Amino acid sequence: MNNTCFEDTLSVYFSRLFPYDYFHKWLSYGDEKTFSHREFAFNFEGERFLRHQAYKDINGLKQVIKKLHPVKIDIGAVFNISPLNSLREKRFYPVQRELIFDIDVTDYDDVRTCCKGVDMCSKCWNYMIVAVKILDAALREDFGFENILWVFSGRRGIHCWVCDHRARLLKRDARWGVATYLQLVTGGEFMKKKVTIGSKIHHSVKRALEVIQPVFISMCVENQDMLGTEERVLKFLGIIADDEMRAEVQDLFDEHCTSLTKWNAFIKFFKKQIESENEKWCKTPYLIEEIMLQYAYPRLDINVTLGMTHLLKAPFCVHPKTGKIGVPIDPMDIDDFDPYNIPTILELFDEIDKFDKQATEQGMTIEKLKEIEDVKKTSLEKYMCIFENFLQDLENTFKITAPNDINLESD
Ligand SMILES: [Zn+2]
Repeated sequence: MNNTCFEDTLSVYFSRLFPYDYFHKWLSYGDEKTFSHREFAFNFEGERFLRHQAYKDINGLKQVIKKLHPVKIDIGAVFNISPLNSLREKRFYPVQRELIFDIDVTDYDDVRTCCKGVDMCSKCWNYMIVAVKILDAALREDFGFENILWVFSGRRGIHCWVCDHRARLLKRDARWGVATYLQLVTGGEFMKKKVTIGSKIHHSVKRALEVIQPVFISMCVENQDMLGTEERVLKFLGIIADDEMRAEVQDLFDEHCTSLTKWNAFIKFFKKQIESENEKWCKTPYLIEEIMLQYAYPRLDINVTLGMTHLLKAPFCVHPKTGKIGVPIDPMDIDDFDPYNIPTILELFDEIDKFDKQATEQGMTIEKLKEIEDVKKTSLEKYMCIFENFLQDLENTFKITAPNDINLESD
């Protein structure tokens, strides 16, 4: 899509399909001031950028979006005073921020072999499925969070917004605590062994393994052909710290040619060593689990989670490269979510045209047709329902949490 065409379609999208009222319901959290003290930021064609924007109410935001049709809308923190006054006011600090996570397939380059960098295929997407399952369960079961919104980034990643009242009030060190608890794979590219379990498997790690184990062979061993080249074998062997043990596995691998036969031989060999109580191997009883985690556990961009003022792209933005909508995802249906089957902005317009044409042919009057919301004529509707359900659950919590128990000053 060329730039002028994209801007034109964006303008139609923002006037006919963008869910302003839902945004307001979400970001006000039952209190108007929470909305008006929120930072918004926009990206426009030609890399123009506007930060520290804020709006008294949803109409202010609506007018700006409709007029300027940004290619990206970012949501920032809620501040003690309106971000519009931030330059004049010295005491300007964030008081609320959803706990956010950004997971992107580009962060899996140490284990992806099918694609690199910005490229993504359905094999890469499997990492996102595993990430959503593991993180959603941990956030709900280990931290008790309930109001969690998962959103497709529009291209090759997923964003998570934990919106519970107490999540929004977490201070930086508490965010650090949650993020490091969830971050198992550490050490960067020069650390060969990135996961160490210790003497006992933590229940959260056990639950993650229950997600990874059933898909590990197809996802990592076969689809990524994880032992298919000498380089990959070397990388794998790097996880084994002891020289003798590493040499034993190397010899074993020399007898096999495919990733699958190598992996199976390794499992068999390892189990045999443990059964025969081989002292060396018994020192690393969870080696297989550690390897699985290293190859499949979610990679988190921890800086996004730590920073209260870090911006994150709003749901329902249109990705400028793909034209796809950043739709909410139901984590329970993540297996069925197909990033290649997400409507693009142009497809949505086609769907509206098709609906209108069909309805008119079937005798529906123009007046009647006008009463039907555009979004209800499109495949965006089902994602809107996911957002609606999230908002419904969120609204139920407004009654329990007092909206004004944080320090929001009047303008
Ligand atoms: Zn791929």
